[in-house]
Amino acid sequence: MTKRQVSPTRRLLRAEVLRREQRSEHVATVTVGGPDLADFDGMGADQWVRLFFRREGQARLRMPTWSGTGALLQLLTMDTQTRPWVRSYSVRSFRAADLELDIEVAVHGGQSPGSRFGLNARPGDEVAILDEGITYLPPAGARTLLVADDSAVPAVLSILESAPPDLEGVALLEVADAADVREIQAPPGVDVRWIHGRTAHETPGRLALRALTDTDIPPPPLYAWIAGESGLVKGARRLLVRERDVPKTAITFLGYWKEGRSAVS
Ligand SMILES: Cc1cc2nc3c(=O)[nH]c(=O)nc-3n(C[C@H](O)[C@H](O)[C@H](O)COP(=O)(O)OP(=O)(O)OC[C@H]3O[C@@H](n4cnc5c(N)ncnc54)[C@H](O)[C@@H]3O)c2cc1C
Repeated sequence: MTKRQVSPTRRLLRAEVLRREQRSEHVATVTVGGPDLADFDGMGADQWVRLFFRREGQARLRMPTWSGTGALLQLLTMDTQTRPWVRSYSVRSFRAADLELDIEVAVHGGQSPGSRFGLNARPGDEVAILDEGITYLPPAGARTLLVADDSAVPAVLSILESAPPDLEGVALLEVADAADVREIQAPPGVDVRWIHGRTAHETPGRLALRALTDTDIPPPPLYAWIAGESGLVKGARRLLVRERDVPKTAITFLGYWKEGRSAVS
């Protein structure tokens, strides 16, 4: 079980879409906000939320009436045709003073609920969020190794922005193409390498895995955080643990999604 730090006061928060920006063909930033966000406990790092949003054809968002994790249980008892879509997204940034929270959606075609939301969210659209906390929990003084595909790039950018300025290490970030590369304020000791040039038929994460194979792993003490498509995560785990002798306890692995399989909701 992945170690996680979650706010003890988290609850289901209502919000609405404030704006949407198409940063590149494959990246859309959606900003949500509203008075409920006064109760959002912004933790930085890879903090993520479950985002509830309307199904197509529905005038209003139909939400579970229970709060907290109970909402997820209740969701499963709701009619599959009318329950809201729920997808997981990292908090790219949270501005407490403005009660605004950004997510970055990796748009993969226009067919999936998450991609459609990223492409079509409009100001005023109702959403709800449930805070799920952070998993990036490095021991003090450890060097870092971060590996991500497009879906986990927002988490890594947030990790790097909230990292101590003396952090050292390597970040391997795979995106679909050069236009998806973002400006990033990383500690100067972290070597941030963007990897792009994926063909249309290549599964996201494979280029990052290849880059990891060719990378000199930072020496101990090391903490590695790896997230993205399941094949990337499994391959990286095998490589680091079996071939590079990195202790399992020094690595957080997160399969954010699996090729050919939809998230459940
Ligand atoms: C903790 C956590 C944090 C996450 N943070 C982010 C984030 O900040 N930004 C983000 O974009 N995603 C993030 N994800 C991943 C996102 O939740 C999944 O990609 C989710 O499946 C997207 O839902 P969907 O409706 O677009 O596709 P689904 O309906 O779940 O899947 C439809 C099809 O698309 C494929 N698919 C799913 N995701 C991708 C993808 N990224 N690229 C290519 N094909 C895909 C599936 O294999 C399936 O075949 C996060 C996941 C987790 C668990």
